[in-house]
Amino acid sequence: MTPPANRVFRFVNWRLRSDQDDDAPPVRLKFRCLTLTGDDTECGAESEALTDAQEAQRWTFQHLREYPDHTSYAEVIERPWVMWREGPA
Ligand SMILES: [Zn+2]
Repeated sequence: MTPPANRVFRFVNWRLRSDQDDDAPPVRLKFRCLTLTGDDTECGAESEALTDAQEAQRWTFQHLREYPDHTSYAEVIERPWVMWREGPA
């Protein structure tokens, strides 16, 4: 059996923060249909995630045309966050 290799560990403080850097991914949103179907499960159909809120909302009208009784929706927001290293503990 070989002895374990020597390792050096360093403790670091991490902080989670909203990523508002210039190169951060954009905030995106989508809509999901919350309407309950015949077997009491959520429809669950979703738009794609988009940066344009009006374009994302447009999907709900398309879905309503296809399913006239699907009138309940959730807005799902995808906001970038990043772990920020604050140095040794
Ligand atoms: Zn639906």
